[in-house]
Amino acid sequence: MHLSIVVPCMNEEESIPLLIDRLTKVIQPWGNKAEIILVDDGSTDETWSLIEATSKNVPQLRGLRLSANRGHQIALTAGLEAAKGERIFMLDADLQDPPEILPEMMVMMDQGYDVVYGRRAKRKGESLFKRASAFLFYRILNSLSDVSIPNDTGDFRLVSRRALNAVLDMPEQTRFVRGMFAWVGYKQIGLEYIREARMVGETKYPFKAMLRFATDALTGFSLRPLRFATRLSFLSLFVTLLMAVYVFGSLIMFNTAPGWASMVLAVSFFSGIQLLTLGILGEYIGRLYVETKRRPLYFLSEEVGAKSAPLQKEK
Ligand code: UDP
Ligand code: MG
Repeated sequence: MHLSIVVPCMNEEESIPLLIDRLTKVIQPWGNKAEIILVDDGSTDETWSLIEATSKNVPQLRGLRLSANRGHQIALTAGLEAAKGERIFMLDADLQDPPEILPEMMVMMDQGYDVVYGRRAKRKGESLFKRASAFLFYRILNSLSDVSIPNDTGDFRLVSRRALNAVLDMPEQTRFVRGMFAWVGYKQIGLEYIREARMVGETKYPFKAMLRFATDALTGFSLRPLRFATRLSFLSLFVTLLMAVYVFGSLIMFNTAPGWASMVLAVSFFSGIQLLTLGILGEYIGRLYVETKRRPLYFLSEEVGAKSAPLQKEK
């Protein structure tokens, strides 16, 4: 198998027909040396029956159905584990990232790159909030994280077999796929493209999911928030010192100490800091807990197309 295309889908019944249509055109040069893997991430609409039906007409199509909704990054991981290609291309079901860019990515990979990631030069049809939060997210992540994760990139990328195997060898439960590829190393390069608006349907990333995703990324790739707690305690020591001077001074000068305001201020300041640092500790401890459970990331409930396909990763 030369090429695998992996697409996670959650409630994408409206996108699927268009998606298949554009992908089958893109893979034409590879004929049956290409496979399209659609991973149904616990959809509650007609996504799976569409995948199943289409797989009868499109021989290169494989469908995996997860037993429940596990989230974008896990669905993507499931598809990556099933992929058999020498080169693996991943994109979202909503066609925000144009699959037609693949030949260009292929050319770059021919030049010796292991990862060619799409870099969003422009994002169309997304809310100001989404664009602003994404902009901030990638910059904060980068300033905090120990690996350099390229700004404004998604999971839209072409990767080599050895880069993929490296990522699949990473045993962590919390999977921030683009960060994992960045961490792996090898030669990587970005290719600019314009991110289109979603063709149909609506975003499957509500604010809560975005927040989860951002925390996973930060805690998975940086210990700095933990050290932040120590820095804050220095700051609070410093403020205490100032307060002490003030209290001492007013004691001598005015000989009275109503002190209510400074008291409230001090208490709220320190309890704020304590809660914040406790929260940060909690995030990491929670992650330790999840990691030690070592649960399987997902279960497959159904599979269609290319029956001989092994479910385990190939080495
Ligand atoms: N997705 C998924 N599981 C989820 C949420 C999303 O598999 O729990 C898929 C979704 O079908 C799409 C991709 O992840 O193919 C990205 O989602 P979306 O386009 O809604 O995110 P956005 O582009 O708005 O950030
Ligand atoms: Mg999208």
